[in-house]
Formats: sequence, structure tokens, C-alpha cells
Amino acid sequence: MTLNNFPYKDIIHRCFRCGYCKFPVNWTDVNNCPPYARFRMESYSCGGRLWLMRAWLSEQLEWSEHLAEILYACTTCKNCEIKCPLRFSGDIVNMVIASREAMVEKGTIPNKVKTFLENVELYGNPYGLSKSRRASYLYDSVERFKRHEYLLYIGCAGSYDDRAKKAVLALTIILKKGGISFGILAEDEVCDGNEVRSLGEQGLFEMVAQHNIEMFKKNGVKDIITFSPHAYHVFKNHYPAFGGNFKVYHYTHILYQLLKQEKIKLKDSSGLKITYHDPCFLGRWNREYEIPRKIIEKMPNAAIIEMEKNRDASLCCGGGSGNYYIDLLGGSPDSPARRRIREAYEVGANVLITACPKCLIMLNNAVKEEELEGHIAVRDLSEIVLDAC
Ligand code: SF4
Ligand code: SF4
Repeated sequence: MTLNNFPYKDIIHRCFRCGYCKFPVNWTDVNNCPPYARFRMESYSCGGRLWLMRAWLSEQLEWSEHLAEILYACTTCKNCEIKCPLRFSGDIVNMVIASREAMVEKGTIPNKVKTFLENVELYGNPYGLSKSRRASYLYDSVERFKRHEYLLYIGCAGSYDDRAKKAVLALTIILKKGGISFGILAEDEVCDGNEVRSLGEQGLFEMVAQHNIEMFKKNGVKDIITFSPHAYHVFKNHYPAFGGNFKVYHYTHILYQLLKQEKIKLKDSSGLKITYHDPCFLGRWNREYEIPRKIIEKMPNAAIIEMEKNRDASLCCGGGSGNYYIDLLGGSPDSPARRRIREAYEVGANVLITACPKCLIMLNNAVKEEELEGHIAVRDLSEIVLDAC
């Protein structure tokens, strides 16, 4: 692919590098584009990246490993699309993904990205772990999907990552307490493909999407609860193009219904000073800001404190687009997750809650790196609700 057949060739030149895309909605600082916040170089900002891609696609700039890393450092958090004053704003992330497709086509992607994609192709997950171990910790406690009302789609992080597994377990206990009829596909599930798609491997994305859709249909799945907002996003917005039309819920939707219908009740939660971190794929991508907050509001006597960067202005944890595994942004006090932990601590919260396994992993590691263990805890919403049940 060159600039001539680049699908956005008529608009990529329009970015005039005003820099608005680096700000949160409330204009407080320039650190709301995670790679820019981490590296503080214009080339890592949204506008800088678009200019570099245009130069590379038009063969004015040679490929280098560093150029590829700049392209892949974008976490597809969508902050820039909210801020950019130009009419192409809805296509900024699409331009990043299309540029990555060009790199995939030429075989010039960073090695860490290559490993991620190869693992998904060979093992159905980015960790390169056995398919037979997928969500195996749940096999004794959760039924296999068999004409249940809901399929609970666990996802890769929830299946293999030790921190995320604890949150999934909490969720399954609450769903059972609430009388929800649900089952899992266990080793028949594969990666949802959201990150594969955003890394520019469209062929592999189609393969995993088709596998999941066939498996859902074969098992008679109609309604899906996802643990991860990334799975929620891709099932809801991208699977219909391949004939995958299912009713998709993020787990917070179901928890809120259970609370409203008083199928679960929450106990006194005094002492908790909670701040909520909006996951990008629940918030900016799918405009779901209020349900998680309404759930927290139902915790009697818990104090809720908003960070300045919330909802549309939320700061990405840095884990999107595979970076929870690839980690092109880590290793510095300026990493987005460490910035976010400091923000949560500075508003006086003793618990930072999120509702995404990638955020949970990134922020949990950041607490240790900031040496704030014992001062602030990172919990998934499912865990805090189970504690209060
Ligand atoms: S992407 Fe939009 S907001 Fe960002 S520098 Fe370019 S024109 Fe400005
Ligand atoms: S999507 Fe997020 S990480 Fe990517 S350029 Fe936009 S603001 Fe930066």
C-alpha cells in the first residue's frame, strides 16, 4: 500500500498539527494522548503520527523500527477524535489502523506486535498459552454453555491473567447469586479480535471473528455478556459485518439490572473512598459512562470522588491496542497507568475502580511501581460489588 491506494489519502493531509488532540475535554494539560504523555515528543502525538504516516506512505520517509514503534504506540483510546476540530475527526483511529495494515502488508511491524499476532493465530490468545487451559479455573464452578439465557464470554485476559481471573471469578459468583442463567464456551472460545483488528491484521481478525460467530451460532447463543469492554465493542460494532448479530451486554449492564430488581443487595460500604476510571472501550467508544457510576452509587455510605479526567476526558491506562501485552509505553513514571494512579491517589481515593481487565492489569502494576500499595487499591467493579453483597 502506498499513499495512492491508502483509503484515507484524500483526508490524511488535512491535519494541521494544532495539537488539540493531546488535551482532555477540560483543557487542563497536554497529557491525554497516552504516547505523547509518555514520550513528550510531537512525533508521538496524534497529529505528529499522522504526518509521519503520510510521509512514509508517500515514500518521503524510510521505514525504521522506531517509526513502526511510534505508529504502534497509539492505544486507540479515541481521545484525539473527541478533541480534533476537523471534520475527519471520526476517522483518526481508522487512519492509524489503515497505516498499520500497510505495515502488516509489508511485513515491517515491531517484533512484539508480531509475537502478539502469531500467538493469537497459533493459540487463540496473545499469551501463547495452551487452548486447553482457556478459563480452566472456572470449569468446576461454571457450567458449559448449553441453551442458557446468556453466554458469558471471558476473553483472553480473563482466561489467563492471574489478576483478571480474580475479577472474573467474582463476577461469576454475583451472576449466580442474582439467578442469571449463563454458561461459558471454555476452550471453544478464542480471542475476540478487537486488538488484532486495531493492530492492522485484518485477515487474522476476520478469521477469529468468523470462528467465534460460528461457535456462537452452533451453540445457539443469542445473548452475550462480556467481561471485557474490548470484546463488548468488537462484538457489538464489528461482528455484524460478518453476520454476527447478537444481543451484547457488558457485565456492568447486567449487574445494574440485578441491583435495580433487588436480586442482589449491597451492604454498608463506609470507609471506601472510590474513584472510577472509565475504560476507553466502554466510555469514549461506546458512550457508557453512567451505568458503572450508578452501580457504585448503590453502595451504601461509600464516598465517590471524581478525578478531573473523567468520562470523555478520561486518561487511557495505556493498555489499549494490545499494549497491556506489547507494552510500548511502560517503564517510566510518565507511563499513562502511573499517571492515572497518581491522579486517583491525589484526589483522596483509597480505591480505584475500573471495569476492564486491561485497565485492571495496567493500573494494578502501576500501584506497585508507584509504591502506593497499602494506600490505594485497584479493584474491578465486580470485586467491589461482591465484597458488598
Ligand atoms: S489530528 Fe486534529 S487535533 Fe490533532 S493536530 Fe491534527 S488537526 Fe489538530
Ligand atoms: S487514539 Fe489515543 S493514543 Fe491514539 S493518537 Fe488518539 S489520543 Fe493518542
